[in-house]
Amino acid sequence: MASGQNDVVKENPVGIVIVGAGAAGLMTAIQAARALRARGVPGSLLLLDGRPTVGAKILMSGGTRCNVTHREVKPSDFEGGPRHFVKHVLEAFTPQATLRLFEEIGVKLVLEPGGKYFPATHSAKTVLEALLKETDRVGVGLKKRVRITAVQKEGDLFCLKSSDDLDTVWARRVVLTTGGLSYPATGSDGAGFGIARSFGHTILKTFPALTPLLTKDPGWKNLSGVSLAARLSFFRRGKKVRECPGPLLFTHFGFSGPAALDISRHLAGAAQGDGPRITASFLPKESEGSLQVRLQSAQQAYSKKLVKNLLTGEFSLPARFVEVFLEKIGLDGGLRIGNFSSEDKKRLIRSLLHYPLEAEGVFGYSKAEVTAGGVDLKEIKAATMESKLVNGLYFAGEILDVDGRIGGFNFQWAWSTGALAGRSAARSLLQAN
Ligand SMILES: Cc1cc2nc3c(=O)[nH]c(=O)nc-3n(C[C@H](O)[C@H](O)[C@H](O)COP(=O)(O)OP(=O)(O)OC[C@H]3O[C@@H](n4cnc5c(N)ncnc54)[C@H](O)[C@@H]3O)c2cc1C
Repeated sequence: MASGQNDVVKENPVGIVIVGAGAAGLMTAIQAARALRARGVPGSLLLLDGRPTVGAKILMSGGTRCNVTHREVKPSDFEGGPRHFVKHVLEAFTPQATLRLFEEIGVKLVLEPGGKYFPATHSAKTVLEALLKETDRVGVGLKKRVRITAVQKEGDLFCLKSSDDLDTVWARRVVLTTGGLSYPATGSDGAGFGIARSFGHTILKTFPALTPLLTKDPGWKNLSGVSLAARLSFFRRGKKVRECPGPLLFTHFGFSGPAALDISRHLAGAAQGDGPRITASFLPKESEGSLQVRLQSAQQAYSKKLVKNLLTGEFSLPARFVEVFLEKIGLDGGLRIGNFSSEDKKRLIRSLLHYPLEAEGVFGYSKAEVTAGGVDLKEIKAATMESKLVNGLYFAGEILDVDGRIGGFNFQWAWSTGALAGRSAARSLLQAN
């Protein structure tokens, strides 16, 4: 911001300043403005963003199709802060409310098999453009290239300093929607955590989530491009703590696809002493019992069939995968199944269902769809998203200690917390008038 006539001086503070124009910030702005207008008091609202263009994550989301929400969103779809907090927030602004809002602003959403909602245009641009148009329609001022570096409270007012150090913005309410640390090139570089910390807020350990898994194993790396249905299980201290079913994609650096992305936050967040371990079932619909029966009847029906052909034919596993897999478990794919010993059979079943995946770590923030950890929800009021430590300071979106699984859950968290924060900040402003 250039200094001079655009300065927002202390004598004339902005009603609500929202810092960060991503999904959470746009929703906060729209809901706050609508709440003020509904009471016939169009208040002054300013939405600030450090980037020259906003909504980068919306545009890149869902493979540029933007998976806006999910048919069913439950607290168990999220990790991080307490379930009762997440439940309250999701009930205050449900996926149905999300569908209604997008319909109102002209975005038709379509349900895909599996429960994900996407815009009918299959373009994330439709979502961002509609949100920006609505923000403008309800009278929110959007200023880009304004990176907030510090926020302080003086009496009842907040003083926001920008990076160029020329301007100071004064506000009666502030909502921090600065995101986390994932894909920092989109503008979310963790600055919001510093601001929250300066007000005494606790930032719980942050780490990348929904990010690919890394392997050093050349065999798996050679399978780059191969995908199959799987179920990954995460073990901590010998105990299974999470199962993530879904497609598993082999890449030149390791494992990706929904199953790997969903499990990544558990590996990334594990402590060394946890003895973290991931196992893979490459036949997620089978159990040891069902596989035993199928192998036995295959042995009787076509005893001359080669093991490798059984796995690609009867079990529909990709040929390239079968080759690497059998080599890894030390079974000869050229063996006829009639000659399979019971020990061989046991090894095959165990390895198909409980393979100890050689995942050595995660890719990191540069490829993480979301940040785990963040502002501790213990210090936030679930009914309003207002800080329990600082009156008039609100939070929404990824900055908070909540991360969802793949499927539209992270946007729903942004929409729900944003709607709640925006409405609450507006209500509090009206009450003060
Ligand atoms: C590749 C990718 C695909 C994804 N796909 C999906 C999907 O399909 N469905 C789904 O539900 N989720 C998806 N996500 C996750 C989802 O995009 C995020 O959870 C969501 O965008 C978080 O919104 P937010 O507003 O909290 O933060 P962000 O979107 O990160 O927005 C934060 C904004 O704050 C601004 N900002 C930060 N610091 C400052 C500062 N100091 N001053 C001023 N401005 C600041 C940034 O420039 C940015 O615009 C995806 C994420 C990625 C990276």
